[in-house]
Amino acid sequence: MKKYGIFGGSFNPIHYGHLMICEYIKEEMGLDKVIFIPTGNPPHKEIEVSAKDRYEMVKTAILPNPDFDISDIETTRVKLSYTVDTIRELKEIYREEKLYFIIGMDSLFQLKTWKKIKDLSSEIEFVVAKRPGYLDDEKINREIKYLKENFGTKIILVETPLYEISSTDLRDRIKKGKSLRYLIPKKVLNYIEESEFYKNEL
Ligand code: ATP
Repeated sequence: MKKYGIFGGSFNPIHYGHLMICEYIKEEMGLDKVIFIPTGNPPHKEIEVSAKDRYEMVKTAILPNPDFDISDIETTRVKLSYTVDTIRELKEIYREEKLYFIIGMDSLFQLKTWKKIKDLSSEIEFVVAKRPGYLDDEKINREIKYLKENFGTKIILVETPLYEISSTDLRDRIKKGKSLRYLIPKKVLNYIEESEFYKNEL
């Protein structure tokens, strides 16, 4: 049975932290593919960069990697939906494959607040990447235990390298006129510069 990783995020913008953890987890877990799923725009919320542009940036970033793929399942959806709906839809498409949901450690600590987390936990296992700022083993184990006991969540931890980078920091660097070289793929940087994204406060 083939194994696919599902990697959701706002990717505003995508950066090497995202790409590195997916490549690492792909190898460690023996995944055949990782599918990136940029989130749609939250309804009634003004955001600077559209779902379509975030989708295009992810597409550009993953192009050189034949094991990385992208889905527009969330960016083209008009109705509000939950992650569990996306996973159920994907399971209909990939009936023969086993799916895993990839998240970073900060998201592990958010999981209990996710809508319909119990339903989601019954649909898919989570694979968690390490992330700077979330390294207390005792806290991590406590969280994993809490999630398992309350929602039946299944978690696999992968010892990914630590890469202290976030989209928030990158947006901040752009506002300050600082370099993004070596932090995101060159072609994504070109896209951002041409579109003049992230320069203004919203
Ligand atoms: P923001 O700063 O806007 O919150 P982000 O950098 O956390 O953005 P997202 O698009 O929100 O990026 O992240 C998608 C997923 O990638 C999340 O599960 C997040 O935990 C994970 N992730 C992002 N950056 C890293 C990183 N440097 N190391 C490990 N995981 C990461």
